[in-house]
Amino acid sequence: MPILNRAAELHEEVTGWRRDFHANPELLYDVHETAAKVAGLLKEFGVDEIVTGIGKTGVVGIINGGRNDSGITIGLRADMDALPIREATGKPYASRVDGLMHACGHDGHTAMLLGAAKYLSETRNFNGRVALIFQPAEEGGAGGKAMVDDGLMDRFDIREVYGMHNAPTIPIGSFATREGAMLASVDQLDIVVTGVGGHAAMPHNCADPILAASAIVQSIQSIVSRNVDPIGSIVVSITRFEAGDAYNVIPATARLCGTVRSLDESLRDLAEKRLGEMVEHVARAHGCTAELTYERQYPTTVNHREQVHFAADVARSLAGDANVEINTPQVMGGEDFSFMLQARPGAFVYIGNGDSAGLHHPEYDFNDEAIPHGISFFAELVRKAMPL
Ligand SMILES: [Zn+2]
Ligand SMILES: [Zn+2]
Repeated sequence: MPILNRAAELHEEVTGWRRDFHANPELLYDVHETAAKVAGLLKEFGVDEIVTGIGKTGVVGIINGGRNDSGITIGLRADMDALPIREATGKPYASRVDGLMHACGHDGHTAMLLGAAKYLSETRNFNGRVALIFQPAEEGGAGGKAMVDDGLMDRFDIREVYGMHNAPTIPIGSFATREGAMLASVDQLDIVVTGVGGHAAMPHNCADPILAASAIVQSIQSIVSRNVDPIGSIVVSITRFEAGDAYNVIPATARLCGTVRSLDESLRDLAEKRLGEMVEHVARAHGCTAELTYERQYPTTVNHREQVHFAADVARSLAGDANVEINTPQVMGGEDFSFMLQARPGAFVYIGNGDSAGLHHPEYDFNDEAIPHGISFFAELVRKAMPL
């Protein structure tokens, strides 16, 4: 059974919603129009409870099953926000907002979860409750954290939570996931090196922050190569180096920016600690001082063992064993569904987007052929997790 019959019937309608979201992208927490459309459709489906404004602009819909005495609530999550990218797909439903586009497929995720909501409110073929979670600000704004901090899990008594993201290169109708760490933690660092500026021809009267910052850039690569077990996975990248504005002046300060990614929370702690030590001491060795600001953004996305195998079983029952990868490669990108997985057991699953442009590419487009597969996955997951 590759897809549910009803999901096939809903395909065209859900595609319409998806393209409407695509044409009207919104950024971060500013997803007012999208959230209003989501809430409006949930109301139309006869969803039992709709809460808006959770985690600023998040929406939650609750559907009670045909029976509701299991005491279980399953959370299903989609993200609603777009990206500051100028679209180059040339599609008839391309973005109407210059400089913004749905380049990560969150339009598709929201539409698929709405399709599942329609199906589940029609059939109610489960014993328990479903919490449909539509979050803002996945792209760098930690909207998932905002919803958790706003009481998402306790308020609706969510026991387990599942998220789905499209994946270019994985074929349509296929799924992939893995036990444990699937995506990396994402942290941001800023370093300000302060020395003594002066005439470039008289460096002995100065403390050169450019030389100190250069030494810092080189030294911190030894965290990856010499402090971390070679089996572990961590990336430290300096991505910006700003200093000076003349040919003949040694500036007083230099600024570095960068990112740290890791697949292991203990390595993340280690990186933060060693960065602090190195930045301070290397700067001092050059007669300068330095200040590190280390901002923890998204934690590692870690799937829970029981829930990821359950989700994979659901996917196999639809797609067949050959089309479900249970050992998908880890990547150093991040996901703020990680905050929900820290709050409750659950799993994050990729759904194939076929042979499309990559995520965050101006020619990327969510593949509408994935829609009935995504709806079927959510619907079957609910039915199997909470059988009547
Ligand atoms: Zn993205
Ligand atoms: Zn995304």
